[in-house]
Amino acid sequence: MRFQETLYSEWGQNFEQDQILFEAETGHQHLIIFDNPRLGRVMALDGVIQTTEADEFVYHEMMVHVPMNTHLNAKHILIIGGGDGGILREVLKHKSVESVTQVEIDRAVIDMCIEYFPNHSKGAFDDPRLNLVISDGAAFIANNEKSFDVIITDSTDPIGPGEVLFESGFYQGCADALAEYGILVTQNGVPFMQGNEVTSTYRRWRPFFRTRSFYLTPVPTYVGGAMAMGFASKSEITQPSRTQLERRAKEICEIRYYSPEVHLGAFGLPTFVQNLMVD
Ligand code: SAM
Repeated sequence: MRFQETLYSEWGQNFEQDQILFEAETGHQHLIIFDNPRLGRVMALDGVIQTTEADEFVYHEMMVHVPMNTHLNAKHILIIGGGDGGILREVLKHKSVESVTQVEIDRAVIDMCIEYFPNHSKGAFDDPRLNLVISDGAAFIANNEKSFDVIITDSTDPIGPGEVLFESGFYQGCADALAEYGILVTQNGVPFMQGNEVTSTYRRWRPFFRTRSFYLTPVPTYVGGAMAMGFASKSEITQPSRTQLERRAKEICEIRYYSPEVHLGAFGLPTFVQNLMVD
């Protein structure tokens, strides 16, 4: 058997399916988890690859350690989405973290990932610093009154339940929820295939954020080249020096992709991506 990703009609990737471990309509999306001989466990939502055991470290480390090591002392973190637990696992590695609020719309994703991807969360969902909320992230942020130092939107693509997380109202709510030097990071698509997502995010951010930028990370199973991670703040944020990042990186255990060089280099954008950042 083979799994054909359906993100793009013109082009896509397919996976050998050794065994389908779970498949169901969850009430929010179609969820499938299967084994692949090369990538290990693989999860897809609504036909789109979300995470694999083999390459999850690339994405989760870069979505977390770039904002956390840029911020001086992030204590209160908000994760939107992230049902597989990889973002949460990486956030909790930071000693500065006092509280993590995670808002995930689909409980089934959490339950199935705890069962079939135990190394993604590694017990993180049992951490006493976690406040887990099962809700739509946009609805949560619209009623939020807490202040956060870092917000990480680890969402699906802007189709289905994820769509609201790419709209202006959600971004305004994130801006309201961020502390003065707080940082928002978003899963922002693969520019070579989804360049419109960079442009629309950049434009939608304009009323709320003084810092509007992106950094790139090549995630092997997110097809089409490097993925863009949105990086925004209400304040003017400058990147730390390599020496400062080296000091911070030393405090984080078990990193396999993130490094100070990769952190700083990720903000070096190809011309075609810079050309997408237009108002
Ligand atoms: N790393 C993946 C990527 O880059 O596409 C994302 C993985 S994570 C599994 C995506 C999560 O976003 C899923 O658990 C999904 O249920 C959640 N999600 C989608 N829409 C949401 C919403 N409106 N509010 C909260 N969580 C949402």
